[in-house]
Amino acid sequence: MNNIYPKHLLMTQFPIHDNCLQVGGMPLTQLAQRVGATPFYAYDRQLITERVTLLRTCLPPEIRLHYSMKANPMPAVVQHMSGLVDGIDVASVGEMQVALNTPMPPNLISFAGPGKGRNELSCAIAAGIILNMESEQEMECVANLGQYLGICPKVAVRVNPNFELRSSSVKMGGGSRQFGVDSERVPAMLTRIDELGLDFEGFHIFSGSQSLKAEAIQESHEKTLQLGMRLAQDAPSPARLINIGGGFGVPYFPGDQALDLMSIGENLYRLLKNIKQQLPETKIALELGRYFVAEAGIYVCRVLERKISRGKVFLLTDGGLHHHLAASGNFGQVIRKNYPVVLGNRVEGTERETVSIVGRLCTPLDLLIDEMEMTKAQIGDLIVVFQSGAYGLTSSPTAFLNHPIPPEILI
Ligand SMILES: *Cc1c(COP(=O)(O)O)cnc(C)c1O
Repeated sequence: MNNIYPKHLLMTQFPIHDNCLQVGGMPLTQLAQRVGATPFYAYDRQLITERVTLLRTCLPPEIRLHYSMKANPMPAVVQHMSGLVDGIDVASVGEMQVALNTPMPPNLISFAGPGKGRNELSCAIAAGIILNMESEQEMECVANLGQYLGICPKVAVRVNPNFELRSSSVKMGGGSRQFGVDSERVPAMLTRIDELGLDFEGFHIFSGSQSLKAEAIQESHEKTLQLGMRLAQDAPSPARLINIGGGFGVPYFPGDQALDLMSIGENLYRLLKNIKQQLPETKIALELGRYFVAEAGIYVCRVLERKISRGKVFLLTDGGLHHHLAASGNFGQVIRKNYPVVLGNRVEGTERETVSIVGRLCTPLDLLIDEMEMTKAQIGDLIVVFQSGAYGLTSSPTAFLNHPIPPEILI
């Protein structure tokens, strides 16, 4: 490699040979031939495995790792994850069915999400998975259904903590939330769980997502475990599990620094000592989605046309926001920034130009890259969007304009 290419755009997890990106040990051009069409998503199973290994190396061995599968629910990915993690967290019955198709035992699958319907709850009770209950109404419904089905439901309480994960871009706990039960109401709920004879598993305390600040995550872990220990005093039986959430972010944009896992691990070693004394029977779980899979995935689309409009170069591609809403900047981002992108089949080129990369949808929001300098593209070249393994295809409005849904592969 010479150093013409801006370093922050090169994702070193995917090597380059003969100026072509290598994915799963294969040149991208060959992979595109194998898939047979563009656009597509590709996820590298080796990179996912390495990510889990990295976590296991940096974190205390007692920490359980759960995969929050809404980040990437492709069945092959979930199957792969099931062999690597200690539990799967689902957020719908559709996800539950995918998780149940893997070898993961039902008692290691948990179901969170507000507003679960009676039918969903009875599917989950019959499956024997753990219900992370998000309200008192849900608790009564679960007890009722359990009696009707003749099965004792396994339940945990999803707690809305009285603090939030500082610096996370998606806040999901603290203050008034549609998620979970306000922590001050949990003791009364625990009494009622006892009266109803539900099988008490523990607590689920999740405060936010996509944080790159180790200190903020450490602070959240400390407060979360304190809250868990305090609530456990009122529990009908010893909590078997406290799920302390996740929120580990990945770098997307220039200037983003990868998370300092070592310091998060050291902090957890320290906190666990205390937990082991106070709650010897309680296991601690982290639930992560994005951090496991985001960096292992790419989205690939093809240049269909070069269009120059009053001096500005647009690369028209067969991709777009209907496949990758997050890269277009429309998935909750406050300020639009470019995802890291390269020409996968010709990474380096002496001829370079500033381009905007767009799709075929009839909206100016259909913008994958806004004015970025890259190797001069030709028709047929492959555009690769990195950091696309999480919240990609299934977080995008694929029905908009009714183009075909792109294939996903796990290589
Ligand atoms: C979405 C979600 C996660 C996963 O968040 P990531 O940022 O992808 O790690 C974890 N727990 C709950 C309850 C969620 O809703």
